[in-house]
Amino acid sequence: ASTAELLLSRIRDVPDYPVEGVVFKDITPLLADPEAFAALTAELAELAERYGATKIVGLEARGFILAAPVAVSAKLGFIPVRKAGKLPGATLKQGYELEYGTAEIEVHAEDLAPGDRVLVIDDVLATGGTAEASLALVRRAGAEVAGVAVLMELGFLGGRARLEPALGGAPLQAL
Ligand code: 5GP
Repeated sequence: ASTAELLLSRIRDVPDYPVEGVVFKDITPLLADPEAFAALTAELAELAERYGATKIVGLEARGFILAAPVAVSAKLGFIPVRKAGKLPGATLKQGYELEYGTAEIEVHAEDLAPGDRVLVIDDVLATGGTAEASLALVRRAGAEVAGVAVLMELGFLGGRARLEPALGGAPLQAL
């Protein structure tokens, strides 16, 4: 079976989570399978190399789990983009719209600089709001977007189209 088939087989659909009518994609079976987790890490590390990334950004919280081993494997620094209020140093903050209300994410300002080429990694691309805000942070720091890589894209939510302007021609890859 292909890697994509292996990865898909390790993602569990959880109906009515976190609210009724939503089918949540649970990646914990994949994380618990060392063969699948290693295959995912290897594919993401290969993308990092192909895109010429010099830094790996992971989006809280599941994006951290996926991005950290990629950074080690690709021998690149790992930069956390966190929900607001968790980082102790000087930060850049970026707000974005949720279905109900707004959210804010931030990054340590000193972690990204002009000359950096950043690969942003998360588990699931849904509406694209989180990824879009993270790309705004990368650009505001003066760094370049090398690409966005996610394990899974929920195509019916239109995240790819929303993200397109922020990508500015950089690739969005869903494994
Ligand atoms: P978006 O901002 O694209 O609407 O939502 C993406 C964010 O929400 C990601 O950080 C992702 O972790 C989380 N998310 C949304 N839906 C799901 C889902 O079905 N499964 C998982 N694992 N994460 C999700």
